Amino acid sequence: MKMKVPQNILLIKPYVPGKPIEELEREYGISGSVKLASNENPLGPSPKAVKAVEKALCRLNRYPDGSGHDLIMKLSERFRISPGKIVLGNGSDEIIGMLTNAFLVPGDEAIIPSPSFLMYEITVRAAGAKPVFVPLKSLSIDLEGMAEKISGKTRIIFLCNPNNPTGTVIPGKSFKRFIQKVPPNVIVIVDEAYIEFVRDKSCFKSMDYINSEHNVVTLRTFSKIYGLAGLRIGYGIMSEDISGILNRIRPPFNASIPAQAGAAAALDDKTFFEKTVRLVHNELDFMYRSLNNKGIKYFPTQSNFFLIDTAKNADDVFENMLKLGVIVRSMTSYGYPGYIRVSIGLHEENVRFIKALEKVIL
Ligand SMILES: *Cc1c(COP(=O)(O)O)cnc(C)c1O
Repeated sequence: MKMKVPQNILLIKPYVPGKPIEELEREYGISGSVKLASNENPLGPSPKAVKAVEKALCRLNRYPDGSGHDLIMKLSERFRISPGKIVLGNGSDEIIGMLTNAFLVPGDEAIIPSPSFLMYEITVRAAGAKPVFVPLKSLSIDLEGMAEKISGKTRIIFLCNPNNPTGTVIPGKSFKRFIQKVPPNVIVIVDEAYIEFVRDKSCFKSMDYINSEHNVVTLRTFSKIYGLAGLRIGYGIMSEDISGILNRIRPPFNASIPAQAGAAAALDDKTFFEKTVRLVHNELDFMYRSLNNKGIKYFPTQSNFFLIDTAKNADDVFENMLKLGVIVRSMTSYGYPGYIRVSIGLHEENVRFIKALEKVIL
């Protein structure tokens, strides 16, 4: 390579997405396989969103509303948060990147739970800053350990609630204690991509802190609960100070016309929202029962995915399940060499998963 690549960029390992179904079927010459690898909504996209997207297509010759007015007003009413505190993103991924780009310079530190969502490390490194990792404790985010890592260089702390890939949540009481130890110049980003699936009443809700003196940023997405991962739309809720900074670097048309229209319609699709939550809860309970019956060890979750301890090499389990047409995630690269992560699918997909897992590990 002739061009000079910054060292911080060379340190980034590319994000490895879940294997697409088409790729699996091409490689193994099989069909009818199921993907339970990316925590997607197995019911498809919200039907109301699909209708709105279709209707929006005839306006594609125009640029989108760069201020995202209609969608932001809708979110503002839904959460009783003033519109100036809401920023739209091309997926919540993009907002993570905007925050790290806007607030980190080389020499700064960002504290990240480990393992957690890989985009935190990637965006921190891309900004030239230093990721400071704090291992999970019993699969849960160790808030005390994270507070101990705060230094004069800390600018951002990442929390993922529920945490991907472990599905554990932060109790409200623990966060209350934690935030008292966070200096006022540090931003706490709380990624709530899966918050709609939480059943545990003690779970911390970051939006309670948006109007407080603390710099808490809530990140949410339409990708999971509304089944719109392919549309690319998410949002952040934060103080006007922070949103004002983000809007300086936000690409003006980052949320497309179909994305804004689809997301706004999805917010009204209560039927789909409830159907999704019901499916995930019922099917989680089904999965737990099936695994209990077989004596297979797993970790209960507050999300639409969970971890299973296969007591085998997870990369091998992953490969052998692929051959049976079931795509999961090996947790080897996350530091759990015996665990796989499985997303909740439709009932018949989950049945298929259980059968394949039994075949591979029992
Ligand atoms: C899926 C996911 C997201 C959502 O990303 P989008 O860019 O909105 O699709 C964010 N955070 C975590 C932890 C996720 O698992």
